[in-house]
Amino acid sequence: MDSKVVITCAVTGAETTRAQNPALPLTPAEIADAAYDAWRAGAAVLHLHVRDAQGNPTQDLAVFKDTIDRVRAKCDIVIETTTGGAVGMTPEERLQPVTLDPDMASLDCGTVNFGNEYIVNSLPMMREFASLMKARGVRPTLECFDLSHVYASHVLIKEGLVEPPFHYGFVLNVPGGVNYAPDVLDFFVKKIPAGAHWTAMGIGRANLAAIYGAIAMGGFVRVGFEDNVYYAKGVLAKSNAELVDRAARIVRESGNAVATPDDVRALLKLRKNG
Ligand code: ZN
Repeated sequence: MDSKVVITCAVTGAETTRAQNPALPLTPAEIADAAYDAWRAGAAVLHLHVRDAQGNPTQDLAVFKDTIDRVRAKCDIVIETTTGGAVGMTPEERLQPVTLDPDMASLDCGTVNFGNEYIVNSLPMMREFASLMKARGVRPTLECFDLSHVYASHVLIKEGLVEPPFHYGFVLNVPGGVNYAPDVLDFFVKKIPAGAHWTAMGIGRANLAAIYGAIAMGGFVRVGFEDNVYYAKGVLAKSNAELVDRAARIVRESGNAVATPDDVRALLKLRKNG
């Protein structure tokens, strides 16, 4: 073991509601506080979605900028903005936050069921998203909800639209998608380029199992209310930081170290800000 494990915290997401967990951060100030607390607990990366004044998902640039400025004023956590957005958003809306020069951005690598909805990501869209990230020096997280998405990522790499070091995110247990199981995760990992880094994102009840699976296989982990609002069966998490804190304990108890934001900047060769 003895490796550095990156903990990403996805504090808000697009679909989670206060009805599911009253501690969900919604405003830029609340999200910045949640990011700071997550950073103090050991999160090196913030996966960022924002909400409008009504609490609905938005890709509005002003809200993103306000939130990013507030987070950066508090701590040095690496900021990864979503380009997945929410169900029903246009590709143009989804791509907007990349123009704010975040450190990283998610790049969905294919179309997938999302419960009763679906998210469309055609290859031409993926090329457009990857091109803008490359032009602006934003490191993509190649999000794969399906094995076909892993193969689609190879197309982007072959075309030179995504360059190493590569970082994958395996999103497992989305309803209608691929379920988390150790052998499934292992198969995904075997199909990415040698030396690529990866983060397991277990949705809902798969979250804790995916943390253990990822650490056992040399990967990174993601927690937070976007993926899961529970601490244990029937017990809501008090905060995003509580989930980060547990993940950090698991990392340390398994003989590994919790990666710092600067570790991530070095590992993924992130652009320097400011
Ligand atoms: Zn997201």
